[in-house]
Amino acid sequence: MLFDSEKYLELRSALGPDVTLVPVSKTKPAPAILEAYEMGVKDFGENYVQELREKQPMLPQDIRWHFIGHLQSNKVKYLAPFIYMIQSVDSSSLLIEINKQARKCQRQIKVLLQVHVAQEETKFGWNSQELADYLKKEEWKALSNISIEGVMGMASLVDDPKQIKAEFDQIYQCFLQLNEKVFHERPMTIVSMGMSGDWALAIESGSNLIRVGSALFGSRN
Ligand SMILES: *Cc1c(COP(=O)(O)O)cnc(C)c1O
Repeated sequence: MLFDSEKYLELRSALGPDVTLVPVSKTKPAPAILEAYEMGVKDFGENYVQELREKQPMLPQDIRWHFIGHLQSNKVKYLAPFIYMIQSVDSSSLLIEINKQARKCQRQIKVLLQVHVAQEETKFGWNSQELADYLKKEEWKALSNISIEGVMGMASLVDDPKQIKAEFDQIYQCFLQLNEKVFHERPMTIVSMGMSGDWALAIESGSNLIRVGSALFGSRN
């Protein structure tokens, strides 16, 4: 068994219709993804450009690939022809590059803005204030080949549910504030937070997209 279909169905029904479940297939081979696809799963999350470039041509072309890992600007061109959504946008230069490469492919690419709230310095993303300051300048409005659909974030890798919940609340507050201050004409709709270990807390805080890897595909090496 490469994909835990029972667990998937259980999770899917616990979530309700308004929450998108994106199985994270990083490090997992194409046959594992096909098993999930055959159950009707169309959205998958991947972290590594090279790995995704290798798997994407072997798999059904109607899969909606979500890029969720740290993305270097010089690699955007490899994803632009097919990527459905880039969730891990952590700088204005990356937004500009995605727009440029999307235009070359005559596509519009959906993006989420990655918000950094966790303690760990290694996690990428904007802090809420930087993000608000950048967006208020309205340069992003000229980027017609991207569409900013929401925010994405991760909690710290800690055991304390109170801390995790507080961090998810901060991400949700950032989403609300940006909608109020910046996106009032066309509000963002997606709040991507929650993984195998903390998705239930994320949902309590207002998440409507969870990214679940090991709970569905088994642990990674
Ligand atoms: C790997 C990863 C996930 C999935 O993590 P699991 O704990 O295996 O569910 C979710 N989001 C991001 C950004 C990841 O890198």
